[in-house]
Amino acid sequence: MSELSSLKPERVFKYFEEIARIPHGSENMTAIANYCVDFAEKHSLKVIKDEANNVVIYKSATAGYENTEPVILQGHLDMVCQKDESTEIDFMKDGLELFVDGDFVKAKGTTLGADNGIAVAMILAILESDNIPHPPIEAVFTTDEEIGMVGALALDMSLLKGKRMINLDAEEDDTLTVSCAGGSDFRMIVPLKRKTVRGSKVIITLKGLLGGHSGVEIDKNRVNADILAGRFLNYMKSVCDFEIISIDGGDKGNAIPNNCTMILCTATPDIFMSSAIDYLDIIHGEIGDREPDFIDNICVCEESEYDVIESEIKDKLIFTLLCVPDGIAQMSAEIKGLVESSSNLGILKTEEDKIILHFTLRSNKKSALQFLEGRLSAFSSCISCETECSGHYPPWEFKENSELQKLFKECYIEQYGSEPKIEAIHAGLECGVFASGIEGLDCIAMGPQLFDVHTVKERLSIFSLKNTFNLLLEILKRMK
Ligand SMILES: [Zn+2]
Repeated sequence: MSELSSLKPERVFKYFEEIARIPHGSENMTAIANYCVDFAEKHSLKVIKDEANNVVIYKSATAGYENTEPVILQGHLDMVCQKDESTEIDFMKDGLELFVDGDFVKAKGTTLGADNGIAVAMILAILESDNIPHPPIEAVFTTDEEIGMVGALALDMSLLKGKRMINLDAEEDDTLTVSCAGGSDFRMIVPLKRKTVRGSKVIITLKGLLGGHSGVEIDKNRVNADILAGRFLNYMKSVCDFEIISIDGGDKGNAIPNNCTMILCTATPDIFMSSAIDYLDIIHGEIGDREPDFIDNICVCEESEYDVIESEIKDKLIFTLLCVPDGIAQMSAEIKGLVESSSNLGILKTEEDKIILHFTLRSNKKSALQFLEGRLSAFSSCISCETECSGHYPPWEFKENSELQKLFKECYIEQYGSEPKIEAIHAGLECGVFASGIEGLDCIAMGPQLFDVHTVKERLSIFSLKNTFNLLLEILKRMK
């Protein structure tokens, strides 16, 4: 008998334990998908597995619900695999070792995979039951959510007849999620011409900035190192001559860059140095409170001949860093405190013959995302650079007068005696993919309390799971 077998709701924990035994990191989806298919066959439920290994299981309504519209219950099959240094595990073949610690279920030395195995476990427990009242169920288990919602984006939405969906991939039990951002990756590619000049090489590094997630931390007043470099260069242009050899900052589109390195060349290193120190002092004074660990480093190197970027392109680049839309573009009028649209220059990279600027764009409204893409396109055509826009995923727009939101609130208040938090997030969820593929979809996201997901400290609150599962059953019961 394992420790988990005594926990309630016992069927949910039984399935959660079974899932944990099957390796199911992203891109290792065959075994877990087959497990779901076997489950369906064992329970004589209709099942479809598609080429992306997504699994859809259909279950008829229970007595009294025969004439109700179906409900889609959804979670993702893959987990993020992380382990601590002392743990030996081959995530391709080995299962996880679960244990109970007070109110928490944890995994020894690894991520737990409650994100999102606990959703799958809850849904399987509902599918196998014969005493839980519910409308017809379309259970959807998607693959490779963690690496870009690959499964959901490949899913044929015509397999689903439901117009209402409960996504179980939320991580806070007191919160109802009602909207998420869509996004895209936008790249500007500035072709470079170089010329050779003589002068001293100067290397300036800006570092120690906080950085952070370009979606959920874009409203935290973090300074973008690349944009700061643009400001610095623009000032320096007004006080002395210099040329740019390279400028590089950030390595992930979806992170705010926390460092940037400029390699320049100047014929007047002394003037450059003293002006740079003075100006960086002013910047420290200005941003010190919000960026306490910010430091800069200036180093003057040998005099020689250097291949530098042609002046016209240098000016264009500085102009771009000064004026391109970066950070919050628009706050939501409907949901207080929500960033509606944002752009993040995440990567600035100099190559021999080009400079690449990689932006991550997000918006909780489809039309606003298109507008933001349009702004960057217009900007790009003014500075005559090439552009690429890829990695589109749709937003899940807030729906007014949502029946499901109303039902959730009603059940939540009865169960807990208080109001739930209502949240829209400025990051992606699979709900966006479903909402854009199913006309008129009414959708909510909920889930039990998880902590430190995607880390080896990931844990699931047992108490919270019990409450969340009860709440889910109550919602299903009232979905007449
Ligand atoms: Zn997840």
